[in-house]
Amino acid sequence: MQKTPGTPRPQPNVTRTLVGKVMINWHQLEPQCALRELRVDASLGLSAPEAARRVSQYGRNELVASRIKNPWLILWEQLTALMILILIVAAAVSALLTDYKDAIAIGAIVALNTILGFSQEYRAEKAMCALTRLAAPIAKVRRSGKMREIPAIDLVRGDIVVLEAGNFVVADCRVLDSKNLQAQESALTGESQPVRKLSGPIEASDVALGDRRNMAYMGTFITAGRGLAVVTETGMRTELGRIAGMLRSVKREQTPLQRRLGHLAKQLAAAVLVIVTLIFVLGLVRGEGLKLMFLTAVSIAVAAVPEGLPAIVTIALTLGSQRMLRRKALIRTLSAVETLGSVTVICSDKTGTLTENRMAVEILQLADRKLEVRHSASGEGNGRYPELQQAGFGLLLAGGALCNDAVLQPARDEPGAPIAVGDPSETALLVVASQFGLMKSDLERILPRVAEVPFSPQRKRMTTVHAIPDHSSLLSHEVRMALQGAGAPYVAFMKGAVESLLEVCGTVWVNEQREELDQVWRSRLLAANDHLASQGMRVLGVAFRRCHSIPPPGEEETVERNLTFIGMIGIMDPPRVEVASAVMTCKTAGIRPAMITGDHPITAQRIAAEIGMAGDGPVLSGTQLDRLSKDELRRLAETATVYARVSPEHKLNIIESLQQNGHIVAMTGDGVNDAPALRKADIGIAMGLTGTDVAKEAADMVLLDDNFATIVAAIEEGRVIYDNIRKFVRYILATNSGEIWVMLVTPLLGMPLALLPLQILWMNLVTDGLPALALGLEPPEPDIMRRPPRPPDESIFARGLGRHVIWVGLLMGLLSAAIGAWYWRAHDPKWQTMVFTTLTLSQMAHVMAIRSERLSLFRIGLLSNKPLLASVILTAMLQLGLVYVPFLQSVFGTIALPVPDLALSVAVAAVIFWTVEWEKRLIRQQAPACQ
Ligand code: ADP
Ligand code: MG
Repeated sequence: MQKTPGTPRPQPNVTRTLVGKVMINWHQLEPQCALRELRVDASLGLSAPEAARRVSQYGRNELVASRIKNPWLILWEQLTALMILILIVAAAVSALLTDYKDAIAIGAIVALNTILGFSQEYRAEKAMCALTRLAAPIAKVRRSGKMREIPAIDLVRGDIVVLEAGNFVVADCRVLDSKNLQAQESALTGESQPVRKLSGPIEASDVALGDRRNMAYMGTFITAGRGLAVVTETGMRTELGRIAGMLRSVKREQTPLQRRLGHLAKQLAAAVLVIVTLIFVLGLVRGEGLKLMFLTAVSIAVAAVPEGLPAIVTIALTLGSQRMLRRKALIRTLSAVETLGSVTVICSDKTGTLTENRMAVEILQLADRKLEVRHSASGEGNGRYPELQQAGFGLLLAGGALCNDAVLQPARDEPGAPIAVGDPSETALLVVASQFGLMKSDLERILPRVAEVPFSPQRKRMTTVHAIPDHSSLLSHEVRMALQGAGAPYVAFMKGAVESLLEVCGTVWVNEQREELDQVWRSRLLAANDHLASQGMRVLGVAFRRCHSIPPPGEEETVERNLTFIGMIGIMDPPRVEVASAVMTCKTAGIRPAMITGDHPITAQRIAAEIGMAGDGPVLSGTQLDRLSKDELRRLAETATVYARVSPEHKLNIIESLQQNGHIVAMTGDGVNDAPALRKADIGIAMGLTGTDVAKEAADMVLLDDNFATIVAAIEEGRVIYDNIRKFVRYILATNSGEIWVMLVTPLLGMPLALLPLQILWMNLVTDGLPALALGLEPPEPDIMRRPPRPPDESIFARGLGRHVIWVGLLMGLLSAAIGAWYWRAHDPKWQTMVFTTLTLSQMAHVMAIRSERLSLFRIGLLSNKPLLASVILTAMLQLGLVYVPFLQSVFGTIALPVPDLALSVAVAAVIFWTVEWEKRLIRQQAPACQ
């Protein structure tokens, strides 16, 4: 029902803002009035065309600050980079001096460089935005009568949304219905305690934001319960939008590597400045023209200062994160890409990450009997299970199905295969109950839920209270008698970890009646629990008690005493097939995988053994963690691979101990309570499928498939990216220093300027650029997951890179200079072209040789990085064009080289190639690969 504007409606409570805009005080309205005001029917939601109309009227539900960077701004930043500005000035000076050829050539080089830089950065920016969009929350909304999930950005005023524990509130809304709904609003109010949300109107008009108990605001999140709400404001008109600022997007602070390289670039710039001054003075002393020396100085400065280094790192990291996305790992902070390569410990949840999360009930265990569940495609009626005539199994199944937040929806097209929605352990209980003919929907109609204590991973149990109306004839006589006993009008069911249930149980259901839960029964039940767990099963206990009244709101936990233990349900959740090999990979890569689970230690140990994770270390349980001193935990954490029965708070202690031991810790999590641990870990990893918005927000990386193997894949990508950045730095610094050596040495040999300004610019901005970019596409080296993790504070020059840069630069520079000197002494006018060509070709040879840090080019294959090969060939062709095309000769001051001279240049390049290959051979001999 969407009302036409003509219909009379009650005047809502309005407040005028300072600028005279009318604002409705939504909290004062009855839910029905709010709905009328927003012209929407809560049971239908908006229609698609109406939603589209409202988007065009009010705009999208986004905060301006999180939009994509304007391409013009990117272009502007490219053009105003210091080095480019200097070049533009140089071109202008040339033009003023009527040296148009130089001016145009410099202009063209600047243009080429800008295009290259712009396209790279724009691509990176788009990739970043795609990531932001993927990381953006989803809203569950009712549209045209159906529930659907849409990106929160598409929400409009009047949308009917579902609020659920763990979710962000993605627009400002008026709460219509609240089932124990609680929100954490510290982002807006600073109050860190969750606030209970209700649906009734509030009378006063000027209540503080934090006291508007019937409103939920963008930027806050739901900590417990469920509710329905109608969107009142979106985007910049929300309370959060008005105070603006807080961004929920991919974070963009500088990564450590970017900072370090930025620092390095500055130091190099200072050094280059000194050298440039030296060359400038030397040139003037030799009697070179002022203009030529000015351009030379500018060219060298532009050439040798690696000011693009941090930018290239950004691009490499961003494009790398795109590759990770293809492998199902969504990166939320760029520094994560870098840190991933240093991870030494992965602490992973068990359920759903190491296992399939496809749970199936295998055993129904009562105190005195048990039943193996046979699985078959067709549903089995209870006629096949005479056991159900006994109250025990009936209670167990009904309790498991009622104390349960999952739903089993009959599939529309495929009868007999219902679709389960909710927590997999809970849906497994629904499935098994339905196999015995007990449908949750029927049970809930007979025994409606009237109160509940929700599940929490600390308590490891949950309780629901149900009314027992008189007409409960659908239940078997036995079950009814068991539930009602002396005519109690309510019954509470509890399910959860067996130890946790036994704490609050006083009796046990044996032989169709209650018996005192003495020590003998306790140890018998625990033994049965252990027996199921040792087969790798997750065990859920079920208990019940009769109640004479509904617990008052806020005091629901009072029902959790004196329960009767009914039995337990063994649920199988097989390990994921790919996990065992991922665990192996971790071990060869020097990374220790560890399991952190809320499940029973025996279950955890069994699964760990199956996937090859179990080590010699102890299995640590939550209670042990509570007792251990900090030092003891630090010691044990070095070897422990299985942590069981832990709650999210323990994760923090585990991370802390590992970090104190010098580890770089990756930690997974999915719940609201996992957020602090995800922040504390070096790499916080949230589950994409089962994780809450809060966990995702706190994480550095989101696993789109919840799979442990994806973490390992991301670590591999992280190592590759770092490797390739190193290759890039190696290439750029070696070639730049080669050029500088030439410019420094030749005047000392009494020669005129060895390279013309345009030649220097050409080499640096064009011929270096393409191969350098292609180095970023280098595939993983074969031993990438057989090396130990990289220490996070390792210098970029570590592992021989600094030494390499120095000797290769010297060799390249001196060989080129020597050839130049030789030709010059012989009064050969081709001397300058020889220096230029020899240097360029040497650089091409160098880039081919450094594709691998230690393996020979022929081992990794000439064709394994085709873009690099193509860019090397292209650059060589361009160089030949510069040397042989008459027009280009006149611009770049080159002379055609006869074949023998060209062959000499190629020979020098080959020398560079083979000496680098020889260096790699020495490295291989010194440190044989760890295989
Ligand atoms: P995991 O780390 O494997 O995800 P959880 O923290 O989800 O473990 O669960 C820990 C324990 O809490 C389980 O072993 C089980 O005994 C109990 N439990 C889990 N889910 C539920 C639930 N929905 N209702 C009641 N108990 C549960
Ligand atoms: Mg869980």
